[in-house]
Amino acid sequence: MLKYRKPKKAKNIPSFKQRQALGICNKKPLIHDIHEECGLFGVYGHPEAANLTYLGLYSLQHRGQEGAGICSSDGRQLFIEKSMGLVADIFTEKRLRRLPGYIAIGHNRYSTAGTSLLKNVQPIVANFALGSLAIAHNGNLVDAMELRASLESEGAIFQSTSDSEVIVHLIAHSKGSDFYERVAHAVTQINGSFSLLILREKELIAVRDPYGVRPFSLGMKDGAYVLASETCVFDLIGATYIRDIEPGELLIINEQGLESLKLFNNHRRAFCIFEFIYFSRPDSNIFGGQNVNEMRKEFGRQLARESTIDADLVIPVPDSGVPAALGFSEVSNIPFDFGLIRNHYIGRTFIEPKHNIRHFGVKIKLNPVRKLLEGKRLIVIDDSIVRGTTSKKIVKMLKEGGGAKEIHLKISSPPTIGPCFYGIDTPTRQELIASSHLTEEIRKYITADSLAYLSLEGLKNIVPNSHDYCTACFDCNYPISFPGEHLKQMEFLFR
Ligand code: AMP
Repeated sequence: MLKYRKPKKAKNIPSFKQRQALGICNKKPLIHDIHEECGLFGVYGHPEAANLTYLGLYSLQHRGQEGAGICSSDGRQLFIEKSMGLVADIFTEKRLRRLPGYIAIGHNRYSTAGTSLLKNVQPIVANFALGSLAIAHNGNLVDAMELRASLESEGAIFQSTSDSEVIVHLIAHSKGSDFYERVAHAVTQINGSFSLLILREKELIAVRDPYGVRPFSLGMKDGAYVLASETCVFDLIGATYIRDIEPGELLIINEQGLESLKLFNNHRRAFCIFEFIYFSRPDSNIFGGQNVNEMRKEFGRQLARESTIDADLVIPVPDSGVPAALGFSEVSNIPFDFGLIRNHYIGRTFIEPKHNIRHFGVKIKLNPVRKLLEGKRLIVIDDSIVRGTTSKKIVKMLKEGGGAKEIHLKISSPPTIGPCFYGIDTPTRQELIASSHLTEEIRKYITADSLAYLSLEGLKNIVPNSHDYCTACFDCNYPISFPGEHLKQMEFLFR
């Protein structure tokens, strides 16, 4: 009989309004946590497990471009291949042939500067008393530093600086009577967001945090079970979507079939709303099968209802602004066109950890179509403003290169005022332009003729059961507490 600890109750973090009232908002943060945006794929029971994993990671490339790895098992031993770089560059036929077996897990990783190391690329493989295991993690543990310090004081030796390795040590240190109890024990000790895949010689285990922060789905391909961060993978490999991994679920897949254990009862949910805004692919259906493209279009429709303006043309900032611009055009009856052309052969500007590259980013990535834009009053739609540097460059480019007469920038999300501690790479609060500047001040900075954001209320009205979502990036209401040192530092953050 498995015995699980109850989840820790979230400590009360004062709301944004409360903190504003106390005068503890908008001050310089003291820490910037490690953020990891990642993509996961797993398969059990397929003769071409590694090849399927390669395809899965390929279609999840948008979730992480720093490095990737695949670990497979032939039922007797684990095989691992991982490197820095993009999936298609890492996995040559030769490397894929070194990954035999019918079970495999794969991981795409992106992490902020300072932790760009091969040793942090996942899956992490470890040997311990009950055999070998490989682990792949999407999310961010908010209390990894405290747990790591405590494990190190008990003699644990860490190979990487990744917070995910903490989970491996917690499993190894657990006194649980079998492997599942050890995993359950480990995941009930950690706080934060985690979608996990664990590979052993003869089985695959999936775990999702009780909040369900990151998307995680189960499907079937030729009688084999497949798991992926997003359902766009299933379309590519021809798998059928079965269901989401439930928040707080531990799913075991082995010779006996599927076994599902519920680790947390009636826990609050906190699906990441930013997956809809920016992060997931539009062709994916996430958080109970909701299509990302349709959601983004609706954000655009609502934006038009809230802030339409007389103009000649609606253009998106490609690619993330496209669905919202279509929705905006539909409601406002202003024609839509592609006024900015994107070069698809470079990564997203934010990928490059080096600052000087980011500065070239927009020019390398986007070019205005002067013939279309010259002399026009434009409504330009983007999904979000983070630091404001991209918008500023785009406005300049549309005016100077494109010859546009007016630029009305519309953002299909509310102002981003809170850094994410649960796995989306956002900068410190100080760097988030909307955390310390009013919309009119931001408009002036980016030199647009007008600027409008989607309202938080408008956003929440569109997303079904919005109380089940984390909206901390827009309202600073953090659903997962920051225990120990982190909590103190978070308090400093708002002091
Ligand atoms: P910024 O120049 O910092 O204001 O960046 C804004 C641009 O970054 C927008 O065009 C967004 O599409 C994109 N963006 C939004 N969130 C993220 C994120 N977490 N990581 C990378 N890029 C993002």
